[in-house]
Amino acid sequence: VAVGLAVSLQVSADLPHTMMKKVVNTARHAFATGKTRSLDFRIQQLQALKNMITENETEIKEALKADLHKNDCSAYSYEMMGLLAEIEHTIDNLPDWAAPRHVKKTLMTMGDEVYINCEPLGVVLVIGAWNYPLVVVLHPVVGAIAAGNAVVIKPSEVSENTAKVLEKLIPRYLDKELYPVVNGGIPETTELLAERFDHIFYTGNTNVGKIIMSAAAKFLTPVTLELGGKSPCYIDKDCDIDIASRRITWGKFVNCGQTCIAPDYILCDKSVQGKLIEKIKETLKEYYGDNPKESPDYERIINKRHFKRILGLLDGEKIAIGGEHDESTCYIAPTVLTDVKPEAKIMQEEIFGPLLPIINVKDADEAIQFINRGEKPLALYAFANNKKIIKKIISQTSSGGVTGNDVLMHFSVNELPFGGVGHSGMGAYHGKHTFDTFSHKRSCLIKSLSMEGVNKLRYPPYSQKKVDW
Ligand code: NAD
Repeated sequence: VAVGLAVSLQVSADLPHTMMKKVVNTARHAFATGKTRSLDFRIQQLQALKNMITENETEIKEALKADLHKNDCSAYSYEMMGLLAEIEHTIDNLPDWAAPRHVKKTLMTMGDEVYINCEPLGVVLVIGAWNYPLVVVLHPVVGAIAAGNAVVIKPSEVSENTAKVLEKLIPRYLDKELYPVVNGGIPETTELLAERFDHIFYTGNTNVGKIIMSAAAKFLTPVTLELGGKSPCYIDKDCDIDIASRRITWGKFVNCGQTCIAPDYILCDKSVQGKLIEKIKETLKEYYGDNPKESPDYERIINKRHFKRILGLLDGEKIAIGGEHDESTCYIAPTVLTDVKPEAKIMQEEIFGPLLPIINVKDADEAIQFINRGEKPLALYAFANNKKIIKKIISQTSSGGVTGNDVLMHFSVNELPFGGVGHSGMGAYHGKHTFDTFSHKRSCLIKSLSMEGVNKLRYPPYSQKKVDW
């Protein structure tokens, strides 16, 4: 496996652990020079990252196409547009985010300076997943740079074309020592995790999340875990099924269902199911034509391993729409399954593919009970004309985030922290939340040397008289 390092070290002949040590040490030395303390430096690096994306748009799009069959338009709108907006938002707000925050004074601190100072953590590790291979890796990197850290960047080996492009481009635009790119698979990541970091930001599945957390525990390294899970979608009887179907069909089948916050399954009353199927069928035709396989807007499963895993989830299930597949191109048609039982295989793991099971529940209360029997999901969706029903579901369940009457869209609001809870992850990012994730909030108190009389209270000899005033 190629280990591509953005640092100018003679690493290829070394053992992986020596390479990883060199990369991390180089980043640590570069961080120790103090150059990332300057906001001008951070802004210049963020600007360079932005230039990297805009000046190499074609090459990046080609890599995304090769990895996931993303067409130019979806590559731009789902991977680049949000990232560019995030960089601009961060550049615009960084001086404000990084400024010391003065806090309310008390009688004891009246003459003092009391403030919170955001300082960088040091050398952080960002490990990305393959499903949105550009944005999932670079989005956290934006905030990590903004907060003044050195960042070791580890793209997913599964989306190998995008990983190669990142390895080639990042050192051309960013400081080579502070922001090295390490490519490789499990052995390389394992070696990397043997090193000491000041924060690890991991995006991927829950099982590997546990491996990351135990590796981090060795050094008491804090972690952010952006994981997955089964995100439910409740549709109330009293709801505009037409609108709900359009929004759900988009959010479920975009990127061929390989979206961490895609609605994993539907919960609805049996009376809704028939109309829902009809509307989803109509919408699929409108979005992807008669044959999604021929649509330039329909992606593919990332590899044969996931293709086989997803098809295995169909065993014994009733297919209402789709089901067609082609192993040679990793194509699986948008597929909807009806009358799925809670104990079915497809309900035991995150689907992460274009299969949409429908489970019948009679109302919102039964949906709440169903949701609460499972692990806390990354996202939760509820469609209802009556907002009170949505609010009730929000107040009686827990999930990383919620969107009512739509899907995925809470992700796009950069004021909202994006992250999981329980088995769907810990910590959050986006906008200022990313800056906060990668900053230490240091309490600073600078006392005045006057007013020594006030301090008598805390000096011995102690007496009741001193505190009775
Ligand atoms: P993946 O296979 O690309 O793994 C992610 C990273 O973990 C890779 O860089 C890989 O090298 C590393 N890795 C894999 N196995 C490892 C091991 N044994 N030890 C150390 N490192 C290891 O991606 P994936 O896990 O298949 O990604 C899909 C999952 O990610 C889904 O569950 C999805 O919901 C989740 N996801 C979450 C978010 C989010 O923001 N919460 C975003 C995207 C994907």
